[in-house]
Amino acid sequence: MLIGQGIDAHRFGPGRPLVLAGVQVSHDQGLEAHSDGDVAIHALCDALLGAAGLGDIGRHFPDTDAAYAGIDSRILLRRVMASLGSLGLAVHNADLTLVAQQPKLAAYIPAMTQTLAADLGCPPARVNVKATTTERMGFTGRGEGIAAFAVVLLRERAEG
Ligand code: MG
Repeated sequence: MLIGQGIDAHRFGPGRPLVLAGVQVSHDQGLEAHSDGDVAIHALCDALLGAAGLGDIGRHFPDTDAAYAGIDSRILLRRVMASLGSLGLAVHNADLTLVAQQPKLAAYIPAMTQTLAADLGCPPARVNVKATTTERMGFTGRGEGIAAFAVVLLRERAEG
């Protein structure tokens, strides 16, 4: 078994859709980023790359590269999974925490779980997505942005 953790945060900005864990969330602003700003998937990618000893998302998909401008972060996640697959690694389970004062995310969590499980190639029961606030403290509490934390466990894929 190989464990990895990842953290990401992005600032809110106007005129962008809010996409979290591959799911479009209804809100009056989105997250500023070179990509689509999906903090949940970015944290997850870093956890996956960390567990596999492959560095971090910035190394694989530099934000100076125009190829990644506005990219759907699910494409990045699938590329990370392809790298892990080539090393014979599969996801055992993943646990994510989204930190946001607003919007309320509970209603979106089943769709987020299904979406991530599809890209991770594991049963939805092995993917856990949680959301919390920080009781109005700190940058997330002031509504300046959203943070995400992810932990994954990888296993070596069975032969044949
Ligand atoms: Mg990011």
